[in-house]
Amino acid sequence: MTKHIFITGGVVSSLGKGLTSASIGLLLESRGLKVAIQKFDPYINVDPGTMSPFQHGEVYVTEDGAETDLDLGHYERFTNAVLTKDSNFTTGKIYSSVIAKERAGKYLGKTVQVIPHITNEIKEAVRRPVSKHIDVAIAEIGGTVGDIESLPFLEAIRQVGLELGCSNVMFIHLTLIPYLRASQEMKTKPSQHSVSKLREIGIQPDVLICRTEKPLTNDIRSKLSLFCNIRPEAVIEEKDIDYSIYEVPLIFVNQKLDELIIKQLELKCKGHDLKEWRRMLNTVKNAKKSVNIAVVGKYLELQDAYKSIYEALTHGGIANKVKVNIHRVNSEDIEKSGAERLLKGMNGILVPGGFGQRGIEGKIKAIKYARENKVPFFGICLGMQCATIEFARNVLGLKGAHSSEFDPTTKHPVIDLMESQRKVMAKEAMGGTMRLGVYPCKLQTDSLAAKAYGTTAIKERHRHRYEFNNKYRKQFEDKGMVLAGNCSSTDESLVEVIELKGPRNNRDSHAMPAWRGAAASHPWFIGVQFHPEFKSKPIRPHPLFAGFIKAATGKRI
Ligand code: GLN
Repeated sequence: MTKHIFITGGVVSSLGKGLTSASIGLLLESRGLKVAIQKFDPYINVDPGTMSPFQHGEVYVTEDGAETDLDLGHYERFTNAVLTKDSNFTTGKIYSSVIAKERAGKYLGKTVQVIPHITNEIKEAVRRPVSKHIDVAIAEIGGTVGDIESLPFLEAIRQVGLELGCSNVMFIHLTLIPYLRASQEMKTKPSQHSVSKLREIGIQPDVLICRTEKPLTNDIRSKLSLFCNIRPEAVIEEKDIDYSIYEVPLIFVNQKLDELIIKQLELKCKGHDLKEWRRMLNTVKNAKKSVNIAVVGKYLELQDAYKSIYEALTHGGIANKVKVNIHRVNSEDIEKSGAERLLKGMNGILVPGGFGQRGIEGKIKAIKYARENKVPFFGICLGMQCATIEFARNVLGLKGAHSSEFDPTTKHPVIDLMESQRKVMAKEAMGGTMRLGVYPCKLQTDSLAAKAYGTTAIKERHRHRYEFNNKYRKQFEDKGMVLAGNCSSTDESLVEVIELKGPRNNRDSHAMPAWRGAAASHPWFIGVQFHPEFKSKPIRPHPLFAGFIKAATGKRI
């Protein structure tokens, strides 16, 4: 029977419920259990796909093409749970489904109400992983206890608790213990209120995880235990981490959180095996050398807008045993001050995905700088498209070359709307209509990408509407750009990977080989139409990120 763990949050948002859920998932997996992880978001958008990064941070894409909350990225980085369209539900998605059923006459003339129809729909969503022989289904409830929008979700999980009983369902509440510098004390009152709000709804948390700046004193622990009605051993401290988010599972293990869960849910399993995880953490901790990588984007003030990119870069560092110092460079600043001023001294330059005209010219300038100065370059999705535009303008001499996304009347639309997207744009149906999810790609045998992957058959995730314009293939190839990867599942023959010829065919790259001078020659210059960052894990760094960081260290590829 599948057991359930529900994770709620109190006091404030952004406490790291996603990391906490992912860490618990990792601990259970490390004991040989099979876990599923889901996220329930109380907002009304059907998914975050149409939201601005300012609102929501990164949109994470699953293998099956769901545009989801970035917490799913944590789940995939920490665990082997298979995430799909059934792993992320919003109020909008739940209501859409209920309304569609009502229109289809499925409610047999009844008045459709929040309770029981919406709550039943949520319970059905919670039960989806149950059929797949999952030992433990972890569900994170987004938002903060006390929000109006969260109520139907909390009511639904309360009912699941009642129906299945406390040996099958566990409630974990994540809270904040603020430290008041002036009086030098930690305060438990906000957590007391948050738990009492939960109890009002009918949920008694079994575990309280306390985000805190300072270690919890015994006094604070007993106060929390007494006032929140939680056993003292189930008051867990989650102190701010020192060097890596990947420490969180170990913080929990040290306080025996996994044992507590196993005991309450009467799970039969082996002891945990965290050897690989600890080894990875030691690599992070002991890295002596470092590389400086510029991420040239436009949402740099936001911690979460390029979450998976930042994580994947760190993983690339783990693969090469170096620390990656990420420098967030605003592409609009490059437009104002020039690339040289902001990018000089960088060991690598990455241009991530994105939408909209703002900052595009700065990204193109950054790429020109990387190409001409032979700085390792990695372009992802929009980054690859900008690299195409840069090459068209500055190497092929196609004046005004652009993407038709940004200049619909350009004479040289080297990046153009995919044929399949034209109807979508005509209908103005924006939600969930991009080319989404995993597609196979065939790499050229001798390409830099194939060398990094160690294979020519790859599968990567996508989220885009525009593509390399095949009409320009020959012109690019004639000037030495390698169209190194093509989609192998459709007749469209979409270009998925571009690269510049590197020193890899040259035995001694330090001896100023011929490629150094040529416009299309470079030590490591790759653009990919897909999003490799979604498949990178700390214990399995993505080959392209590992290769990029290796090139940034100056090692021969
Ligand atoms: N805006 C571009 C497109 O839709 C790139 C998208 C992206 O970077 N995810 O094709």
